[in-house]
Amino acid sequence: MPSKLSQEIKNIPKIGPAYQARLEHLGIKTVKDLLYHFPTRYEDFSTRINIADLKVEETACVQGIVESVKMVRVWKRHLTITEIVISDETGKVKALWFNQPYLAGSFKKGMTVCLAGKLVERKSSRYLSNPMYEKVNDSADDEIDLTHTGRLVPIYPQTAGLSSRWLRYVIKPLLANYTNLPDPLPNATITAYEFMPWGEAVKQIHFPESLDAARGARKRFAFEELFFIQLSVLRERIRLNNERADAIAMDLPLIQDFTKSLPFRLTEAQRVSSYRILKDMEKNQPMNRLLQGDVGSGKTIVAMMAALNAAKAGYQTAFMVPTEILATQHYETFSKILKPFGVETGILCAKHTAVSSFGQVSKSTVLELAKNGKIGILIGTNALIQKGVSFKKLAFVILDEQHRFGVEQRAALAKNNQTKKKEKLTPHLLSMTATPIPRSLALTIYGDLDLTLLDEMPKGRKIVETKIIKPDGRAAAYEFIRSEIKNGRQAFMVCPRIEGDEEEKRDAILFDPKADYSGAEAVKAVKEEYEKLSKEVFPDLCVGMLHGKMKAGEKQEVMEKFKQGAIDLLVSTSVIEVGIDIPNASIMAIEGSHKFGLAQLHQFRGRVGRGEHQSYCLLFSDYPTRRLSALLKYDNGFELAEKDLEIRGPGEVFGSQQWGMPDLVMASLADVFLVEKSRNAAKGILSRDPTLENHPQLLERVKQIKQRTHLE
Ligand code: ADP
Ligand code: MG
Repeated sequence: MPSKLSQEIKNIPKIGPAYQARLEHLGIKTVKDLLYHFPTRYEDFSTRINIADLKVEETACVQGIVESVKMVRVWKRHLTITEIVISDETGKVKALWFNQPYLAGSFKKGMTVCLAGKLVERKSSRYLSNPMYEKVNDSADDEIDLTHTGRLVPIYPQTAGLSSRWLRYVIKPLLANYTNLPDPLPNATITAYEFMPWGEAVKQIHFPESLDAARGARKRFAFEELFFIQLSVLRERIRLNNERADAIAMDLPLIQDFTKSLPFRLTEAQRVSSYRILKDMEKNQPMNRLLQGDVGSGKTIVAMMAALNAAKAGYQTAFMVPTEILATQHYETFSKILKPFGVETGILCAKHTAVSSFGQVSKSTVLELAKNGKIGILIGTNALIQKGVSFKKLAFVILDEQHRFGVEQRAALAKNNQTKKKEKLTPHLLSMTATPIPRSLALTIYGDLDLTLLDEMPKGRKIVETKIIKPDGRAAAYEFIRSEIKNGRQAFMVCPRIEGDEEEKRDAILFDPKADYSGAEAVKAVKEEYEKLSKEVFPDLCVGMLHGKMKAGEKQEVMEKFKQGAIDLLVSTSVIEVGIDIPNASIMAIEGSHKFGLAQLHQFRGRVGRGEHQSYCLLFSDYPTRRLSALLKYDNGFELAEKDLEIRGPGEVFGSQQWGMPDLVMASLADVFLVEKSRNAAKGILSRDPTLENHPQLLERVKQIKQRTHLE
């Protein structure tokens, strides 16, 4: 089986080098990949009607004989129009295609064609606008097997340079040759859950006989994918359970001193989760824990406590975060709070390298101090897993806002441990996130990992007052920002990337792989907004600017000034999205707020309302959306996530790409039973064959999944 399906697409005669490149850009390299490139939906053209029965503004399918073909150029509007007229016994109808001049050659007078599309009326002329078309072979009998019309027609995900028509043309003939291959799922599983067999499912998902059949096929493939993901994570879990870690005793008096030294009392949720984490770390089996808590719930302190306990016991901690700004902030907080405890904290980023007792030092100094164990807690970006970084006794890894659980990062960090022990030990792992992940997704991607919720906010937090600002409210909103600042507060102003940026980027990459559109538009927007606000709107205030293209040193300086209150208003891209903590900031203003996702908006809003001041979130938008209204109604991340799920579906909310999972699977995550079934099926197999050594085909697929889901 593998030999046939793993055949490269370049061996398919219809796929030339240009198409091959486009397909490969989507990760489609083999026949199997192509067969697993599923349509997102189907257009129902299964019933053909008489031309006389066509109705304006309705979509339908008709069949007739071509009466005439012509091509018109409208020079002024840079348009070419291909026009044909077809007829059947009941009448005639025109069909027009715009800017597809090559089409004229596809039609000949007297040919029988099937057209499927919408009948429109413009200036008293009626025509089918850009219909799908297909030549019908008249010699054949009634059982003509149509591809693009006269059936449920598959529509594939939109991608520049790869039309659904072309994909249908290439995939359809493959179905006959490849679908009688063995099923990748175990027989017992197929029978137990009454799934459609593989070959049948491949046919039905691309060219279904009915929508029911398509649904059955989709369900089967969602299950298949989930099953292999489960096999992969559960097998990984079994492997992890056999690893050993340093057992770090919990030093109760130390923990008590630490909590007493804080300017606030821990919340109950913080106490419970810290205790659980410290207890986990007392075992000689590595901890694998995800700490999930809404923005502002106080995850950092929980992590700090565990790192302090490890440091005082003579072990090192690596704390990895997504941005340099966040690393700097954590470094400062750790240095300050841990000073009385005599723990050396260090920071290692591309530009920022320092340790708490000496301040800024060279990178090589930081590396040296980490290597000989002088740094107890090393904070940094992914610079931490680059060459040359090593630890003397790394026993604990913390990841903040990484969107991924981080087993790989831990492994990368542990690789350079200098421990002399015979057995290679695995550091304990604590991964922290504010992303509210639904349980079914957590089960799927994180396997059996331990989940702790920080489901309580520190006392005294005021709810951030959220308002939508329409164009006519802009002046008043600016005045409000000014008055807050005059009262001693500070404000953020976030700018979106320009609309269409993402698509532009995709196209650009497709046609010019070297093009770099990352954030360029957003930077431009920030610069313009900065000009406007500093010169026209708030010439009396100190306005600062922050974006991803600035040098690390500049960014740091701006954040430092903002922190000290020297900057009143900070105009920024979404770089401030994660983790930044400035208690004196009381206003989060967001330009073009409808262009951001709910989760992101919630993250922005979480940047304010952290101190004792009443705080505000101003959503500037000309287009108030349901998403924005949801933000007015809910202030809890989990409730918002559910709302978002309802409005947009899981694929968009959690981003399939981010988790390395196909849309099909993301959509099926709402089906808790399917997730449970796949999990049970995987567990059943692993209980008999924990390493899968007796199931080579399953193992091969698991390895592929691992590769895909772990590529950052
Ligand atoms: P997040 O969970 O979003 O990472 P942080 O750890 O950054 O949140 O904490 C947000 C703010 O709340 C910080 O300024 C922190 O000092 C403060 N904080 C943490 N725990 C408490 C508490 N129990 N009471 C009051 N403030 C707290
Ligand atoms: Mg945080």
